[in-house]
Amino acid sequence: MSQARHILALSGGKDSTALAIYLRDRIPEMEYVFCDTKKELPEIYEYLDRIEAFLGKKIKRLCDDRGFDHWLEVFGGFLPSSQMRWCTKILKIKPFEDYIGDDEVKMYVGIRADENRQAYVSTKPNITPVLPFKDDGLVRDDIFRILKESGVGLPKYYSWRTRSGCYFCFFQRKQEWAGLLKNHPDLFEKSIEYEKVDKEGNGYTWGQNESLVQLSDPDRIKEIEERHHISLNKIQQNNSKRPLHEILEEINDDDSDDTPCSFCHI
Ligand code: SF4
Repeated sequence: MSQARHILALSGGKDSTALAIYLRDRIPEMEYVFCDTKKELPEIYEYLDRIEAFLGKKIKRLCDDRGFDHWLEVFGGFLPSSQMRWCTKILKIKPFEDYIGDDEVKMYVGIRADENRQAYVSTKPNITPVLPFKDDGLVRDDIFRILKESGVGLPKYYSWRTRSGCYFCFFQRKQEWAGLLKNHPDLFEKSIEYEKVDKEGNGYTWGQNESLVQLSDPDRIKEIEERHHISLNKIQQNNSKRPLHEILEEINDDDSDDTPCSFCHI
């Protein structure tokens, strides 16, 4: 029987990156892949270059040639949502499973010991998930330490958004949409173009109960930012020494009403 392949799918997020760093010398034969929707934040592509430099190895880019816009048409213009995550299945998981084929694979996932979420579980019996951080008891602080000590650091989007993935990802909080508007106004505009809203406000929008045009109203942005600062201040009052990126992550975790996709955001 042939030996299992060892594969780590990077998402452009901090945990999968820390895992790649953690395993670089432990599993030299590791294959690193990234499933590219071609709609990722620009900071992710820059981060992948940084990770490659550290690993001294290419990260194989996998993608579905037809792309997001084709599939959106196939799905009748229905934007993906947390209830219907067709984007993850088609643009992330399928290219990964095609790449693996029928080979026996150990798939390394960066779920930490202090997390409860499920790893992406393939329906393919030849894929065995391995969770080294869970097995070795590594928690959030360890991840920040690994990233810092390696020199790879955090992705640049981390000052305004804590999750990797597509620029228009529906898992974004209101504050993160406001961050997209500020940091990438062109991508915010493109996200608006995907929304179809009639005069009565009915249609397909990325978020619930509010279109991006409504969200980008200056008064609404002010309101979102004020609320965000109140949350930041509350946490900072309890522990003034904590770095901003940790506080942002805590706010986003507390604010979470959906389980984020472990394939895209890890
Ligand atoms: S990052 Fe978000 S929008 Fe992109 S594929 Fe994943 S779940 Fe879908």
